[in-house]
Amino acid sequence: MTKIIGIAGNQIIQSVDVFNGNHVSYTPQAFVTAIQKSGGLPIVLPISDGQNAAAYISKIDKLLLAGGQDISPDFFGEEPHPKLEETNRNRDVFELALIKEAIKQKKPIFAVCRGMQLLNVALDGTLYQDLSLYSDWTVKHGQEPTQPQFATHSIQMEKDSILHQLFGEKYHVNSYHHQAINSLAPSLKITARSSDGIVEAIESVETDQRILGVQWHPELRFDVDKNEFKLFDYFVNQL
Ligand code: MN
Repeated sequence: MTKIIGIAGNQIIQSVDVFNGNHVSYTPQAFVTAIQKSGGLPIVLPISDGQNAAAYISKIDKLLLAGGQDISPDFFGEEPHPKLEETNRNRDVFELALIKEAIKQKKPIFAVCRGMQLLNVALDGTLYQDLSLYSDWTVKHGQEPTQPQFATHSIQMEKDSILHQLFGEKYHVNSYHHQAINSLAPSLKITARSSDGIVEAIESVETDQRILGVQWHPELRFDVDKNEFKLFDYFVNQL
């Protein structure tokens, strides 16, 4: 059976330069292509009222959380730090509801960048609103202006993890984040870190909760590095 993959969508709501100023719901094409290439059937879930989460989750086999805006810090009990960047509260609310519902309905979740951070918040973890708040920060995690098809920093995998199975002990990833996981949610485990100790991947400690989160952007590299494609293939066909 073809797996139906719900991708939580994003919105453009302030640009006057694209779509003639029209607001749009969207997801990056690379997620759609990667899922199609893995044999899955992608469906974009537009930002909606959280009350619709149960209905959406019941229609899909697995949930993909994409990257994007910063997460509104009140969801982990903080005021916005001066270095916080753009947030979209409607997206946070809807995706938090999707996560809760996916866990309830036992649907696997693959979470990328912001998605991984939001998962941690949904399960009672906290974030660094900016990497400058992390005292051991020594690695460049915002690799601009280097293009995303280049992996720029190393990560070290934990044994007994999906990532170790896919990549072995050491791997290199691209990096476009200025926020990171601070305190880890009790139901999650860290499965990869960068050399400065930043959390680069998470999985669930509960065996019946299929969760895989990565801090980098595999969707921007899967067409130039078949290792990255393994993540999508694993998500669609095994997770
Ligand atoms: Mn990084």
